[in-house]
Amino acid sequence: MISKNKSISKLLLSIISLVLCLVLVAGHTIPLAAASGKTSKQLEEARQKSKELKKKLSSAQAELDDLRSVRKEKSDDLAWLEGRTREQQEAYEDALNRKNNALLVMEQTSSDYAAAVQEYEDQVEAYGERLALMYQLPKVSIFEVLLSSSDMQSYFSTNKLIRIISDTDELMLTRLQEAEAYAEEMKVQAEASFLDMERLVAEADELLAEIKANRDISAAELKKASSAVSEAERESLDAAAEMKKAEAEIASLQEKYKKELAAEEAARKAEEETRKKAAAETEAKKKSSSGNQVSKSGWTWPVPASRSISSYYGYRNLFGYRLHTGIDIPASKGSKVVATKSGVVLRCSRSTNEGNFVTVDHGNGFISVYKHLSKYGSSPGQRVSAGQTIGYVGNTGRSTGPHLHFEIQKNGKAVNPLKYVR
Ligand SMILES: [Zn+2]
Repeated sequence: MISKNKSISKLLLSIISLVLCLVLVAGHTIPLAAASGKTSKQLEEARQKSKELKKKLSSAQAELDDLRSVRKEKSDDLAWLEGRTREQQEAYEDALNRKNNALLVMEQTSSDYAAAVQEYEDQVEAYGERLALMYQLPKVSIFEVLLSSSDMQSYFSTNKLIRIISDTDELMLTRLQEAEAYAEEMKVQAEASFLDMERLVAEADELLAEIKANRDISAAELKKASSAVSEAERESLDAAAEMKKAEAEIASLQEKYKKELAAEEAARKAEEETRKKAAAETEAKKKSSSGNQVSKSGWTWPVPASRSISSYYGYRNLFGYRLHTGIDIPASKGSKVVATKSGVVLRCSRSTNEGNFVTVDHGNGFISVYKHLSKYGSSPGQRVSAGQTIGYVGNTGRSTGPHLHFEIQKNGKAVNPLKYVR
């Protein structure tokens, strides 16, 4: 068991080491894609967040719409109740006025009644006094009256007068009694009317209080709805601000990502360019070194810096139809010109057509010729080996640009140099 556990541990250790190695290697081999990859992930996260915020914002706005419609309802309710309150206030005030009028009427009729009663009572008293005077006095001295009368007719006249006075008094009393009864009826009616008015006022007041209470409730509800709307508006604004921020972050991440991608692309291109350049240089070196290599037969290329040929050996329509006796190798002025085979420098001369030129004798009837040189790099009689500098590329003589005219003569006759140098 123990040994099995040990071997498992060993296996685990080697796996971990291997993974670590791979991680380290991977870490070294992919440093470029890391930046944009990270930003791309951040961008994805920011987009996800923005999506959620958008959802949140739209639900906040929907809630806000709902709350606004509730507030509108409450506001309408309140407006209606305020209208009703005003109406009821007017109704109440009207009832109050009517009650006050009824009170005045009641007071007036009451005082009228009191006056009627008083008058009736006064008259009853006066009448009683008169009757007592007229009937009781004579009882005491009836004979006195009779005796004082001149005759019997006078006595009767007096008696009749007393009766007339008494009748008038009775009629007046009856009328006063009627007036009193009327005044009482008026007073009772006024009292009833006042009670009605009082009831009306109480009812109007009660209704007004009820409407006012409803209005207060409605106002409280409106206040609540308004504050809910305000809060929802704030939340909506917050959500919008958050959304805007998220969008700005996305924009900035996008910009960053774009720049990173561009930088990575530029770095990749630069790397590729460097690699290509290095490869080209390696290739050129290989070529030039191979160009400078001396072949088995002892020949080598005359201009190590340039492998191109602008004009070949053969019949050309150049300055009239005639033989071009060598090859033209274009190269920048001052490039080295080397002896294509070991030998002895024969001439370093100058002519109108050839400009500065050098010839080298290689023996066995072979002579090489180098024309249009800017400078000589050797002197006649000098022994040179293949690849040794004998002059420099120029544009002297009949020439349209810096190049070397290279020529090989065999037994005094120009031959194709590409048969010997490559
Ligand atoms: Zn030429």
